[in-house]
Amino acid sequence: MQNAQTMKNFYDFNLEQMQNALIFMGEPKYRAKQIYSNFASGKAISEMTDIPLTLREKLLENYCDAPAKIYKKLTSVDGTVKYLFSLADGNIVEGVVMTYKYGKTQCISTQVGCRMGCKFCASTLNRLIRNLTRGELLFTVALANKDCGGNLKKREITNIVLMGSGEPLDNYDEVVAFLKELAKPENLNVSPRNVSLSTCGIVNRIYDLSKENLPLNLTVSLHATTDEKRKVIMPIANAYSIKDILLACKHYFSITGRRFIFEYSLVKGVNDSDECAKELISLLKGLPCHVNLIRLNEVEETGLKRTTDKNAYAFMQKLTDGGLSATVRRLMGSDIEGACGQLRNKYVGGNND
Ligand code: SAH
Repeated sequence: MQNAQTMKNFYDFNLEQMQNALIFMGEPKYRAKQIYSNFASGKAISEMTDIPLTLREKLLENYCDAPAKIYKKLTSVDGTVKYLFSLADGNIVEGVVMTYKYGKTQCISTQVGCRMGCKFCASTLNRLIRNLTRGELLFTVALANKDCGGNLKKREITNIVLMGSGEPLDNYDEVVAFLKELAKPENLNVSPRNVSLSTCGIVNRIYDLSKENLPLNLTVSLHATTDEKRKVIMPIANAYSIKDILLACKHYFSITGRRFIFEYSLVKGVNDSDECAKELISLLKGLPCHVNLIRLNEVEETGLKRTTDKNAYAFMQKLTDGGLSATVRRLMGSDIEGACGQLRNKYVGGNND
């Protein structure tokens, strides 16, 4: 019987590392390619029927069968699909697949929980449990791609957003390794240009990211117009100022040439005033950026309320009149606990009906 708590994950290895592990086990190294593409196709070791049973058994003595499994799947009236993935140690993370005209976008969780403490966010209510590994991240994409009817030749998942639970730049090494692996032709071949990474603004890591040669779409959760206001809802503002965030974004732009995006979740009476719109304009005017206004997904425990739709669109109009590029994000999947961490909390909290 496998002990999932301590079991290693063979998909945490890249192709070369798999080859070395197989040689060490006295197995032919060409099997690595088969195993790798099986994983990238969303298959557990026990499902890899093109691998001899003896090798599958040998692998299962040391490695978990599947880095993740689909534990629950909910489909919204608008077609958005929300998955709960169970990891080999029993932890649960969420993923969402949204269908757009150009293809399907998967929203990924990078950590079990989160330690950033943003006041409006459900993911951080129970703090950080652990980081996801590169293999777990890859496998959640492989599972969703397979579940949507895709395979390695005909990809269903074409775009990725790192906007699920967790702070991607707080799990830097695994997230970067995941994105580099995902872009490989022997994997799902998802170009970094089709990936958006959302961060609460860990400035040092934005500079590190600019050296990785990964032309990602950088998205920063701003949510406030001054450091004082930001500190009230985002503890990370005590570590990095908005000024430093803007400098880091400009630096990232100078390397990648890709405009950056600011997320701004409109919270009633907190950051949705006329004054806030004016401050946002003077802060961002002239920068190669776009503002994505998000209507708050209300999380009961936080007590924070969503601004009215009317005010959200009026706020957007003020920004565009002031010369900014801004849109209000479409509401997707709100009937299936669309906000970060909401669905997981419901299931982990024991309300499993
Ligand atoms: N840790 C990353 C990814 C978080 S999720 C980050 O901070 O960017 C993606 C976006 O959703 C972030 O902008 C986050 O602040 C926002 N968000 C989290 N909970 C929300 C909620 N309940 N309603 C609206 N937006 C929320």
